[in-house]
Amino acid sequence: MQLSTSKIEALRALLEEPKSIVILSHTNPDGDAVGSSLAWAEILRKKGHEVTCILPNRYPYYLDFMPEISEVVIFKNDDKGVAREALKRADIIFCLDFHLLSRLDQLGDIIDENQHAKRVLIDHHLDPNEDFDLMISYPEASSTCYLVALLIERLYGAESISRNMAENLFVGMMTDTGNFSFSSVTPDVFRMVSILAETGISIPDIHIHVYNSFTEGRARLFGYVINRKMKIFHGGSVAHMSLTEDEMRRFWFQQGDSEGFVNYPLTIKKMKLSAMFTEHTDFIRVSLRSRGAIDVNLFAQRYFNGGGHKNAAGGKSFMSMEDTLKHFEKCIKEYASEGLL
Ligand code: 5GP
Ligand code: MN
Repeated sequence: MQLSTSKIEALRALLEEPKSIVILSHTNPDGDAVGSSLAWAEILRKKGHEVTCILPNRYPYYLDFMPEISEVVIFKNDDKGVAREALKRADIIFCLDFHLLSRLDQLGDIIDENQHAKRVLIDHHLDPNEDFDLMISYPEASSTCYLVALLIERLYGAESISRNMAENLFVGMMTDTGNFSFSSVTPDVFRMVSILAETGISIPDIHIHVYNSFTEGRARLFGYVINRKMKIFHGGSVAHMSLTEDEMRRFWFQQGDSEGFVNYPLTIKKMKLSAMFTEHTDFIRVSLRSRGAIDVNLFAQRYFNGGGHKNAAGGKSFMSMEDTLKHFEKCIKEYASEGLL
């Protein structure tokens, strides 16, 4: 994958003078959202810019170890208005790891208060359709962290990647590729991993922090969901699971605890599509995964007001859980009847 030289030069020109910068990422931030924001913030600060990272809501507790994560402003808990102030004085607003302002929830409403800031997208989702002054959009990139690593390399040289940046970037590259196993993983991804590894990061430690640092409640909840809530239908090729708020409370649920559950049905032979529905106060969060040619990005767009990537997408439902599951099964039938499943 080759980054466009004209875009790199446009970015270089934007960053020539010290600027006031805000970095935003999406609601329910994951390792890629947080890792890319923190690494991008660190390099920009080193180059003399003033940077504030803002996330719409809190990241999962198992990302607490990420270097400098405590400096991130969580908009939902921001009683002092730090986010609003930073957004007001920003010369540049970077949007990382998302492509629709709707993925910022309420944080999206206050962006328009600043009409003078340049808006720059750095992202790997399909079909970005918002107005940006500069769009660094590569849907074929396996993660936004990989894109940020390439940008840093092109702008300032690979040697400017610090150990902290490398740790943050590695988290997103690892989590967004299912531990470097998805088809989006290219030889160049491993070249970049090698550059990150040279900084002295401990890959086993990062792995333990991200994948083996959960609560007991999560382990028990996982067992419950797979055993009691997983329904397999459509000839064994589609699975859905759901969690109500009440069920989550019973297992001392913490944000992020159900992350990754949706992948598990795909470990079953012949499974093509897996869906997870989690109840929130005003809506049901939909999480979709698929194998190979099955396109859940299209499925999420069509039926659940969402989108994402071909094999990993999400959306929302505003119906009851019961109706949402019925709707899902109906949509699967329709999708299959069109030869899309
Ligand atoms: P997850 O299932 O991990 O929450 O999300 C998987 C992918 O689906 C994310 O990388 C994101 O691209 C996309 N996604 C999740 N929720 C939404 C949503 O509400 N709207 C859109 N457009 N994409 C989503
Ligand atoms: Mn991502």
